[in-house]
Amino acid sequence: MSDAKKAHPVGVCKICGGITYSIELINQRCGRSPHGRRCSGKFANASRDSDWKACEPCDGTGKLDSAQCVYCRGIGWNLTKPWII
Ligand SMILES: [Zn+2]
Ligand SMILES: [Zn+2]
Repeated sequence: MSDAKKAHPVGVCKICGGITYSIELINQRCGRSPHGRRCSGKFANASRDSDWKACEPCDGTGKLDSAQCVYCRGIGWNLTKPWII
Protein backbone atom coordinates (compact mmCIF):
# COMPACT_ATOMS: atom_id res chain seq x y z
CA MET A 1 0.00 0.00 0.00
CA SER A 2 2.82 2.35 0.80
CA ASP A 3 5.34 3.28 -1.87
CA ALA A 4 8.10 3.05 0.71
CA LYS A 5 7.52 -0.63 1.21
CA LYS A 6 10.64 -2.54 0.35
CA ALA A 7 11.25 -5.92 -1.22
CA HIS A 8 12.19 -8.53 1.31
CA PRO A 9 15.74 -9.88 1.52
CA VAL A 10 16.48 -13.21 -0.15
CA GLY A 11 19.16 -14.59 2.15
CA VAL A 12 20.02 -14.56 5.83
CA CYS A 13 23.27 -15.44 7.56
CA LYS A 14 22.63 -18.07 10.20
CA ILE A 15 25.55 -16.87 12.30
CA CYS A 16 25.21 -13.09 12.46
CA GLY A 17 21.68 -12.60 11.15
CA GLY A 18 22.94 -10.41 8.34
CA ILE A 19 20.78 -10.19 5.25
CA THR A 20 21.37 -10.00 1.56
CA TYR A 21 19.24 -8.92 -1.37
CA SER A 22 21.47 -10.72 -3.86
CA ILE A 23 20.30 -14.17 -4.89
CA GLU A 24 23.87 -14.92 -6.02
CA LEU A 25 25.10 -14.69 -2.45
CA ILE A 26 22.95 -17.53 -1.16
CA ASN A 27 25.19 -20.32 0.12
CA GLN A 28 28.15 -17.98 -0.20
CA ARG A 29 30.26 -16.78 2.69
CA CYS A 30 28.70 -13.94 4.60
CA GLY A 31 31.91 -12.09 5.39
CA ARG A 32 30.25 -9.27 7.24
CA SER A 33 32.11 -7.97 10.25
CA PRO A 34 29.52 -6.41 12.53
CA HIS A 35 31.63 -7.05 15.60
CA GLY A 36 35.08 -6.56 14.14
CA ARG A 37 35.55 -10.16 13.10
CA ARG A 38 34.67 -11.49 9.70
CA CYS A 39 31.65 -13.70 9.94
CA SER A 40 32.24 -17.30 8.91
CA GLY A 41 28.57 -17.99 8.26
CA LYS A 42 26.85 -18.50 4.97
CA PHE A 43 23.71 -16.92 3.64
CA ALA A 44 20.79 -19.32 3.90
CA ASN A 45 18.07 -19.24 1.28
CA ALA A 46 15.14 -17.15 2.46
CA SER A 47 13.91 -16.10 -0.94
CA ARG A 48 10.31 -17.25 -0.62
CA ASP A 49 7.60 -14.78 0.26
CA SER A 50 6.52 -17.17 3.01
CA ASP A 51 9.90 -16.76 4.72
CA TRP A 52 9.07 -13.17 5.60
CA LYS A 53 6.28 -11.11 6.96
CA ALA A 54 6.10 -7.36 6.80
CA CYS A 55 7.11 -5.68 10.02
CA GLU A 56 3.98 -4.42 11.70
CA PRO A 57 5.28 -1.56 13.88
CA CYS A 58 6.82 0.21 10.87
CA ASP A 59 4.41 -1.18 8.28
CA GLY A 60 7.23 -2.60 6.20
CA THR A 61 9.04 0.67 5.70
CA GLY A 62 11.95 -0.05 8.06
CA LYS A 63 11.46 3.30 9.72
CA LEU A 64 9.64 4.49 12.79
CA ASP A 65 9.25 8.23 12.57
CA SER A 66 12.65 9.15 11.13
CA ALA A 67 14.64 6.48 12.98
CA GLN A 68 15.48 2.93 11.99
CA CYS A 69 12.85 0.50 13.16
CA VAL A 70 14.22 -1.58 16.02
CA TYR A 71 11.83 -4.47 15.43
CA CYS A 72 13.13 -5.31 11.99
CA ARG A 73 16.50 -3.52 12.19
CA GLY A 74 15.43 -1.27 9.35
CA ILE A 75 14.74 -4.15 7.02
CA GLY A 76 10.99 -3.70 6.94
CA TRP A 77 10.54 -7.46 7.19
CA ASN A 78 10.83 -10.09 9.85
CA LEU A 79 11.53 -13.77 9.35
CA THR A 80 8.60 -16.05 9.86
CA LYS A 81 10.90 -18.86 10.93
CA PRO A 82 13.10 -18.71 13.99
CA TRP A 83 15.49 -21.39 12.67
CA ILE A 84 17.48 -18.78 10.84
CA ILE A 85 19.12 -17.06 13.75
ZN1 LIG B 1 27.20 -13.55 8.96
ZN1 LIG C 1 10.06 -2.54 11.35
